[in-house]
Amino acid sequence: MIDLHCHSRFSDGTDAPEDLVKAAQELGLKALALTDHDTLAGLPDFMGCQPGCATRLIPGIELSCRFLDMELHILGLFLDLRDERLHERVRDLGLRREERNRRMMERLGALGIPLGWEEVKSHAGADLVSRAHFAKALHRRGFAGSPQDAFKRIIGDGCPGHVPFEDLQPEDACRWIREAGGVALVAHPGRSARRNFRWDQAMADLKAMGVCGFETYYADYSPIEERYFLGLAAELGMARSGGSDYHGDTKPGIRIGVGRGNLQVPDEVLDELEGWRNA
Ligand code: AMP
Ligand code: MN
Ligand code: MN
Ligand code: MN
Repeated sequence: MIDLHCHSRFSDGTDAPEDLVKAAQELGLKALALTDHDTLAGLPDFMGCQPGCATRLIPGIELSCRFLDMELHILGLFLDLRDERLHERVRDLGLRREERNRRMMERLGALGIPLGWEEVKSHAGADLVSRAHFAKALHRRGFAGSPQDAFKRIIGDGCPGHVPFEDLQPEDACRWIREAGGVALVAHPGRSARRNFRWDQAMADLKAMGVCGFETYYADYSPIEERYFLGLAAELGMARSGGSDYHGDTKPGIRIGVGRGNLQVPDEVLDELEGWRNA
């Protein structure tokens, strides 16, 4: 088994990259990809675990994009970390995120929610501060009943405390990833759109933008969704991928490799994805 989607404390997960590797080794995973949101900062620690490790470690990223008025996550796998352009591009994303976070603090203040920046930051791990950390701080300070409630009423898409910033286009995300020698994939399509969204049509468009495949396996897919996306990949001649989207304590109940217990991403998926590199 393999797991091609997980997060560390460098984005909104709670584990150190080294702990993810340890868990993967204990499980006997053949491969594990670290795909933190909009940052490469956890990858040196992660890849540093490769010598002597039986699990193949794959450097990745999950980039937040805007597509048809929704938030679409694009995964990049097999990134060449020597590609300076990619580092520059991701650094620039980080600066835009910081500016967005400053505006969100002001917005919350104007709504009568006096959170301190240090407070929000204290919930973040090592690098990036996202709405997941705002949600934890809002919960901790009693402005929301739970982090989920904070999203529902205060900082979720369209809520008064939300300042969007994901203006990265899927074409650009794919170009960044491909220029760094990687493959670009749509993350959890079954979890990203409104009901009855026509993924068959959208995926063909995304393929033309440089996406080679999408997650056909995912911790939160129903068997029906998995079957649908496997069928769609075959129909469109696109690659399969998948993983747990493990976040540590941020997403309780989800474990590396096995998701909620029954996730199984077959080993062949990795070989197929390798075949898509530079394709
Ligand atoms: P940001 O990139 O700062 O806008 O935050 C996006 C992150 O917040 C996502 O990657 C999720 O981890 C989390 N998130 C967004 N919407 C929700 C929601 N409705 N419920 C729970 N978590 C969410
Ligand atoms: Mn996340
Ligand atoms: Mn995602
Ligand atoms: Mn993810």
